[in-house]
Amino acid sequence: MLKPIDRGGLLLPDLGLWFDPRKRRPFAIVSHAHGDHVGRHECYIATPETIALIRVRMGDALAQRGVALAYGEVYEGKGYSLKLYPAGHVLGSAMAYVETDGGETFLYTGDFKTRKGLAAEAIEIPQADTLVMETTFGRPSYVFPSFDKTCEQLHAFCDEAEAMGKTPVLLAYSLGKAQEVLKILESRSQSIMVHRTIGELNQVYAHFGVELPKTRPLDFLNMEGSVVVMPPSMLKKLPRKDCVVAMVSGWGADGSARFRFGVDDVIPLSDHADYPDLLKFVEAVKPKQVYTTHGYDADFAADLRRQGLEAWSLNGKDQLELML
Ligand SMILES: [Zn+2]
Repeated sequence: MLKPIDRGGLLLPDLGLWFDPRKRRPFAIVSHAHGDHVGRHECYIATPETIALIRVRMGDALAQRGVALAYGEVYEGKGYSLKLYPAGHVLGSAMAYVETDGGETFLYTGDFKTRKGLAAEAIEIPQADTLVMETTFGRPSYVFPSFDKTCEQLHAFCDEAEAMGKTPVLLAYSLGKAQEVLKILESRSQSIMVHRTIGELNQVYAHFGVELPKTRPLDFLNMEGSVVVMPPSMLKKLPRKDCVVAMVSGWGADGSARFRFGVDDVIPLSDHADYPDLLKFVEAVKPKQVYTTHGYDADFAADLRRQGLEAWSLNGKDQLELML
């Protein structure tokens, strides 16, 4: 069986294949355009959407070194073939599916969600012998409310702000979260202001057929009567006096998140799978072995072992602990 290892990114040593390494590599697979998954590689494979997003975020030079592989297309490597499946996380996000010449199958999820989002492709889940999966919310306490409930909460937050004569400000990561929030806000009558980084990425979304509501550039001096969507990093610059601020994050499922983020409210909309969805995902892949990474990786692997699956965290710390 393939033995993936964690080397600041995932490596399949038998095939010399890197997935989402942070350091520059001669050749790698990039699952999506979030910064912690993209290194300045000499050559990399990604979806056309991801390469377009990299162009906006990290410049032309890096985008030009990308080799576009559309979902479902096959790339023939030395000793393996590779296909990308939609991961449902953000526009262009992909799970990498590898089949070796010996007939072994392998799936690397990158970040993913199984809920159908408003601004990302719907996930498609293949079966595989070996599964490497992200487990950000890999504890049973992480159960997100239904999408409809979350939308209601977001609208109620905006309505209450308006009733108080204040500007509702939604903190959402520029890539992915912000676009889904804009889709939810589409039905509101207020004008929408977005930070520049969001506006630039919106153009890529539009280019790939995701229609978003009209927005205006964020202007802290003229926010009255608008809903503001901006990345969390802008919070320290925000004049708070006439605003109420909500963080849009899956961590909102934690009761204490509001205090941790220093905001008035947290709306638990996530681009990741919650705990029940992680379990259902594993059921769908039907793997013979599982490696977990990110978040509660060791906890989630232990839960899978209790179900009789061969499962370990990718960093192997849980395996070491059991041997001691
Ligand atoms: Zn991500």
